[in-house]
This record gives sequence, structure tokens and C-alpha cells, in this order.
Amino acid sequence: MSKQIAIDGPAGAGKSTIAKRVAADLSYIYIDTGAMYRSIGLYMLRNGIDIHDRDKVEIESENADVSLSYVDGNLHVFLNGEDVSNEIRKEEVGNAASVVSAYPLVRRNLTELQRRLAKKENVVMDGRDIGTCVLPDAFLKIYLTASPEVRGERRYRELMDKGESPDLDRIIEDIKKRDQADMNREISPLRKADDAVEVDSSDMTIDEVVNRIESLI
Ligand code: C5P
Repeated sequence: MSKQIAIDGPAGAGKSTIAKRVAADLSYIYIDTGAMYRSIGLYMLRNGIDIHDRDKVEIESENADVSLSYVDGNLHVFLNGEDVSNEIRKEEVGNAASVVSAYPLVRRNLTELQRRLAKKENVVMDGRDIGTCVLPDAFLKIYLTASPEVRGERRYRELMDKGESPDLDRIIEDIKKRDQADMNREISPLRKADDAVEVDSSDMTIDEVVNRIESLI
């Protein structure tokens, strides 16, 4: 049977950076489930579909084929065959992902895809509901958090590095809003699984978090 590590937590806690490092160290496959929800969000934005119209989004989501594959050692995300790895990182796409991820059919289809992938190979999978719903039998579950202020500052620095002029207070507000939406939705809300280990990365470096997780393995 394949081995599974689940890493869940709120936006900006550093899940993908940490999950990628742990996967590389263990020679496991890294699976970014947020990228899948972002791809569905992007599909709706591109096709002018009102993301608040649940029925329409659910019907249209059946036309959005999402797949992952490794290109030169990096995980890339494809939407109907097109590489959308960069485009899905935009703020508006993240916000659309947060809305469409609350819809049952969208979640059911992506959860099935995630489980299929995890059956085939050893994986480190990150998201919001991996330990609680997608992979309840994962041998290690991490709930990675950091304060909204620290997460906001990290995002602020990333955007500054890209040459943008972000507004820190707005970023922190957006992060809090996304936390609220993810934690309070009806299906698979973000929460720590009972058997997950909580790691607060607010005052930790990336190396420290990776070491902590690997010591638990
Ligand atoms: O992790 P990331 O910020 O890329 O995720 C984008 C959005 O996708 C999240 O805000 C969340 O609403 C949704 N998501 C989810 N379940 C997951 C992963 C992401 O609902 N397993």
C-alpha cells in the first residue's frame, strides 16, 4: 500500500513550501490540492461564469479537466491540457477557488481525483481537508498554522519581490476572510484532524519546520 502524509492548514502557512521539501527528502510525490481548486476557479473566471451561482458552477466544472504532472522536476497544473501553473497563483483566482471549493460536486470530483493519485504512489498532499476527509488513514498528519499577521507579511514580501506594490493591511484582511470562509463552510471545513500534530510556524524558519516534521516520521 502507498504511504501518505497529509499537511493541512490555512492560506499562507507555508504548506506548499514545506510539503515540497518533505516530499523531495523522502522521494515521495508532492500533490498540491489547492492548485486543483484554483484551476476550477480559473475556468469559471475565464468563461465568465458567476462563481456564486452554485448550480452553474457545478455543471460547468464537469467540463474542466484538471491534471498534475512533473515537468523538469517541478509540479505543473494543467486545465484541459493547458499549463496554468502561473496563472492560478493570482489573488483573484485564489479568491474564486475559495468560493467554488464550497460546492459539493466540485469537492466530490476533486476528492476522487486526489484519492486516485494517492493510491498509486507515496505522497505528501497539502490542502484543507486532507487529514480529515481525503486521506483519513495517512500515517502522518500535520496541521500547519501561523498567525494571520505573519502569513500576511510573508505574502506581502513575496509580492514586493515580484515588483508589485501591495497593501499589507488589505492582505491581512483577505487572509482573515479566506480563513473564515474555509473554516465555516458546510462540507469539509478546514479543521485540525483529531490525530494531527499542530505545528505553528510563526516563529520558525522553513528548515526548522521541515526538521520538526521529519523528526515525527
Ligand atoms: O492552498 P491554496 O491557497 O492554493 O487553496 C486555494 C483555495 O482552495 C483555499 O482557500 C480553499 O478554499 C480551497 N481548498 C480547499 N480544499 C483543499 C485545498 C484548497 O477547499 N484541499
